[in-house]
Amino acid sequence: MRILIVGAGIGGMTLAALLRQRGQQATLVERAPDFEHAGYMLGLWPLGSRVLHGLSLYERFAADSMECTDYEVRDNHGELVKHWSMGPISDRFGPNLSCTRPQLIHLLHQSLGDADLRFSTSLASLQQQGEEVTATFSTGEQETFDLVVGADGLHSCVRQMVFGDQPYYHTGWGGWVWYADLASAPAGTFIEHWGTGRFVGGYPTRDGVGIFAGAPTGDEREKPGPGRRQRIREQFAGMGQLVDAWLDDLPDDNASMFYWKLSDVRSAEWTRGRVVLLGDAAAGFLPTAGIGASMAMESAAVLADELARTDIRFVEHALALYVKRRKHRVESIQDDSRHLARTMFLKSSTLSHIRNLATKFYSLEQLAGSIAKAFDQPI
Ligand SMILES: Cc1cc2nc3c(=O)[nH]c(=O)nc-3n(C[C@H](O)[C@H](O)[C@H](O)COP(=O)(O)OP(=O)(O)OC[C@H]3O[C@@H](n4cnc5c(N)ncnc54)[C@H](O)[C@@H]3O)c2cc1C
Repeated sequence: MRILIVGAGIGGMTLAALLRQRGQQATLVERAPDFEHAGYMLGLWPLGSRVLHGLSLYERFAADSMECTDYEVRDNHGELVKHWSMGPISDRFGPNLSCTRPQLIHLLHQSLGDADLRFSTSLASLQQQGEEVTATFSTGEQETFDLVVGADGLHSCVRQMVFGDQPYYHTGWGGWVWYADLASAPAGTFIEHWGTGRFVGGYPTRDGVGIFAGAPTGDEREKPGPGRRQRIREQFAGMGQLVDAWLDDLPDDNASMFYWKLSDVRSAEWTRGRVVLLGDAAAGFLPTAGIGASMAMESAAVLADELARTDIRFVEHALALYVKRRKHRVESIQDDSRHLARTMFLKSSTLSHIRNLATKFYSLEQLAGSIAKAFDQPI
């Protein structure tokens, strides 16, 4: 089967590795020039990291990651609102392992051997005819495949080409990502400051504490260039000692820094003919539940499984089964991420106060019900 995977991200690389293990070589095209581009921190729940067992990569991944043992929510001034131990989840299902995106991508890359992976290549057009799909690349080359997998992330061009505009969900917030010194936070504790009109989270990895500092979009503060560092410092001042230490490690104004608009997307359809969507391309994730990468990996495992049980004649049936196994689960978990965004990102001080009082009585299961259930549901 000639398979094209558009996007060598978490989902695309996981799928390629699983297919290769089963003797199927896919062609991967990646828009970026290499894997060295700026990445961010990732917490991988056992939903996703379980997939690494099947690739014999789990032990290496665990050795390079940091286990998240505790989760804390603090308020606008850094006072503790709630502390949860991750023990009840990790004892039953496995740890939440924190890493960087490039680290996971490099690990998956190692298991691809001499795969046909083409950097600096994106898709110019797709044409389906009968049981074949012809792809034209940005390089001008044209090739025909039996199956095209759109694993090209939140703003997927495969989704756009095949299904047109799909509804985005905008929180109206966005945020900066940078790394702070590892010593600036307790190892193994994810600490989030749910403020009023601002949010700062710190997520330790072995390479440093990944920081996400978010606020409503649409003012001058999100602009890059001169004065950026000072503007961010002013916006997040007074959130307590931890945030002060993280702000000290802000990159200089001229350094490249990742700004992320907090929006997601949900495609009404995931497959048409011989094209199928995977990961954020099908249903994009806000970072609020730290679960988009896990979902992309789980979906890759299910797609590889369905493809392993079919031949070229019945590919479309295999894709339909993949969608049946994944869509409801992924969208329920996406709903949880949206619900968390509505809880975490508040502008009103009265609502923030009520939220903080209620959070003191929440269990982790109450905070994200579908995710809690997903650990124990078959796929
Ligand atoms: C700041 C931040 C923090 C996050 N934290 C977490 C977390 O803690 N835990 C978690 O599970 N998830 C987290 N996520 C979400 C997670 O990263 C995504 O859900 C996950 O990466 C989705 O995998 P994917 O393969 O669908 O997309 P991606 O990993 O985004 O990969 C898509 C790939 O496609 C490439 N591409 C795009 N367009 C084209 C094109 N036209 N042609 C060719 N290639 C193309 C891109 O360069 C990229 O390499 C976070 C995201 C962000 C931004």
